[in-house]
Amino acid sequence: MDLPDLLHKKNYSRDDIIDLLSLTDADDVQALYDAAYAVKAAYVGRVVYYRGLIEFSNRCIKNCCYCGIRRDNRDVERFDTDRDDILAMAKWTYDNGYGSLTLQSGERQDDEFIAYIEGLLRDIKKLSDGGLGITLCVGEQTEDTYRRWFEAGAHRYLLRIETSNPALYATLHPQDGHHQWSVRKECLDMLHRLGYQVGTGDMIGLPGQTLEDLADDILFYRDMDIAMIGMGPYVVHHNTPVGKQFLADDLDTDAGKLHRLHLGLKMIAVTRLVLKDVNIASTTALQALHPFGRELGLKAGANILMPIVTVPKFRSQYLLYDNKPCVDEVPAQCKDCLRARVASVGDTVGLGKWGDSPHFFHHTHP
Ligand code: SAH
Ligand code: SF4
Repeated sequence: MDLPDLLHKKNYSRDDIIDLLSLTDADDVQALYDAAYAVKAAYVGRVVYYRGLIEFSNRCIKNCCYCGIRRDNRDVERFDTDRDDILAMAKWTYDNGYGSLTLQSGERQDDEFIAYIEGLLRDIKKLSDGGLGITLCVGEQTEDTYRRWFEAGAHRYLLRIETSNPALYATLHPQDGHHQWSVRKECLDMLHRLGYQVGTGDMIGLPGQTLEDLADDILFYRDMDIAMIGMGPYVVHHNTPVGKQFLADDLDTDAGKLHRLHLGLKMIAVTRLVLKDVNIASTTALQALHPFGRELGLKAGANILMPIVTVPKFRSQYLLYDNKPCVDEVPAQCKDCLRARVASVGDTVGLGKWGDSPHFFHHTHP
């Protein structure tokens, strides 16, 4: 099929998706980005919504083999953010018109953590008179825990499937019974059942990952009726099993980084073409690989940014990967910087709005 036809289809097959992800010619790739941007403009508008991101603790019971704050990384100084500091950052987020907040941390499943989050959610709702939308991103939990948090005020949940290929998932996680693809998928189903707007996503450019895998990730988002996608390139963390192997294999060259950046952008564009009305984040990992990574993401069809509003003193301790940007900035700097980045693309910022994806309101998942 000719590229112009492929770029304007109503329904895409797996082969179509693989063909689009395989594009390498610079003009073809630009045509892909332009088509995706046009779909974004038509279905969700040229408006970027913010989800202020508070990374409030790096304690984690998990040991994902790619992640810098995995349990076995003894070089990490662990931190918890004081409740008052989190509430102050939430207030700042609200006062600055961000509309929505994401609370992210390593995974914990103990009673103290569950109760702490529950209280925090109620306090954040109270301080914003219910005005601030809250997304949680704190990993795998029981249905009861997800229910308690939903009732306390969280209305979105972000849990990346990481890869839709269970065999690839198994190569990236310890086989200790605590890192099971099927459990992660079941969590997404639970979140749907409870009424959350469910976000998921993958890492792109993982060792052993094929274009077929990536195409299947997009089909997974479609089949799971996902309302928001938060995905990004894999970025090396030097003190992790996957990172060490990646470096030993000499895969983290400039060319390798550029390849993963482009793959990340193509995934945004093809996801936009296939799913049309979902929210797609332009993630910080894109910027870890390229100074203008997040603008490029917006131009390729993304419509969500997650400005970091983590307490400045803890930013350098929440490092999932190397070269994380914005570590030395304070929230006000991030705000001005991002506004300029959005304007440079020709989009505007949707201040003071939750920015729910249109998809959520006509979703079909049981
Ligand atoms: N603990 C929670 C949330 C924090 S981790 C959870 O795992 O769901 C958030 C995301 O960071 C993960 O889903 C993973 O996709 C991403 N991440 C971790 N290490 C990464 C790396 N080295 N490169 C890119 N993304 C990474
Ligand atoms: Fe923990 Fe999330 Fe990192 Fe896995 S990806 S080690 S669960 S913080």
